[in-house]
Amino acid sequence: MKRIGVYTSGGDAPGMNACVRAVVRAGLYNGCEMVGIQHGYEGMIEGKFVDLDARAVANIIQRGGTILRTARSERFRTPEGRVKAAENLKGAGVEGLVAIGGDGTFQGAVRLNEEHGVAIVGVPGTIDNDLFGTDFTIGYDTAVNTAMEAIDKIRDTAASHDRLFYVEVMGRDAGFIALDVGISSGAEFVAIPEAKTNVQALREELEAFKGVKSSAIIIVAEGEEEGGAFSLAEKIKDAAGYDYRVCVLGHIQRGGSPTASDRILASRLGIASVEALLEGQTNVMVGIIHGRITFTPLRTTWTQRKTVDNELWRLSKILSL
Ligand code: ATP
Repeated sequence: MKRIGVYTSGGDAPGMNACVRAVVRAGLYNGCEMVGIQHGYEGMIEGKFVDLDARAVANIIQRGGTILRTARSERFRTPEGRVKAAENLKGAGVEGLVAIGGDGTFQGAVRLNEEHGVAIVGVPGTIDNDLFGTDFTIGYDTAVNTAMEAIDKIRDTAASHDRLFYVEVMGRDAGFIALDVGISSGAEFVAIPEAKTNVQALREELEAFKGVKSSAIIIVAEGEEEGGAFSLAEKIKDAAGYDYRVCVLGHIQRGGSPTASDRILASRLGIASVEALLEGQTNVMVGIIHGRITFTPLRTTWTQRKTVDNELWRLSKILSL
C-alpha cells in the first residue's frame, strides 16, 4: 500500500488533530504517501484531497477541532454518493483509509468497504465515549475536564446564592460524560440514560438535604429519559424550597486544547491504525482496552452497546451524602 487517505467525520473532538498528525507521520515513516481528505465524506465526494507531508501536521497536537475540517454528508448516505467517493479515491490513487469519527462515520466506512472494496481502519474520535471496543474515545477526557471546570465555577454561584443547579452535559444516549463529571465535580445527583431517573426519590433526597446542604448540583445527561435538564428541573421544581437554575453546557464541551491523555491516546491509535492497514487489516476499529491496542470489527462498535460502569454509579451515590 503506497497511498493512504485520512479524514475526520461527524462531530469534532479534541485530539483529532493529534491523531491526524500521528497517522500522517506513521504513514511517512513506513514509506507511504499521505493524503488528507477535507470535510469528511462530503469532501470525498467533491474530491477535496490534499497531500500531507510531515510539516503539514506540525504544531497541531495541541489544537482542538480538526485541521481537515469535518462535515455531515447526506449525499454519502446514497449509493450514488458513495460511487462518486470511490471513483475519486481511485483517481487519487488512494488505496487505504483511516477514518476518525464516531459510529455514523464507521457505518459509512463499512458501506464504502463492502460496496467498493476500499480498505478502511477506524479510529474512535468522539467526545461521547459510546463506542464498543475501546475503553476511551479520543476527545472524551478533554470533554470531561472541560465540563468539570465549568461546574467548579457554577458551584461557586450555587454556594453563594444557596441554589440548586441542574447542569446538562453532552453524551447523546450514553451517560459516560455525566457519570465521570458527576464524580469529579462532587455532584449531589447524576441522571443518566442507562438508569431510570426516579423523580420522587430525587425529590426526597433533596428534602433530606434541607438544613444540611444549602446548595446542590445535579448533573443531567442530554439523553436522560426525563428529557434533559430543563424538563427534570420543571418536574422537581419547588423541592426542599431551593431556588434553582438550569445550565446547558452545550458545545463548549467539544472544543479546546486536548488533555495529555487525549493526545497520547490519539497518537497511539493513529499509529496503530496505519500499522493495521499496512498489515492488511480492514473493516476494524483500533481501540485501547486495559492499556493495550485492540481491534474490533467496525460493525460491532455500534451493534454492541458499551455499558457504563455500575461501580461508578454506586460511588456517586456514596459520595453525595
Ligand atoms: P459523533 O458521534 O461524534 O457525532 P458520528 O461519526 O457518529 O460522530 P454522524 O453524523 O452520525 O457522526 O456520521 C457522520 C457521517 O457518516 C454522516 O454525515 C454520513 O455522511 C455518514 N453516515 C452515517 N451513517 C451512515 C450510513 N448508515 N450509511 C452511509 N453513511 C453514513
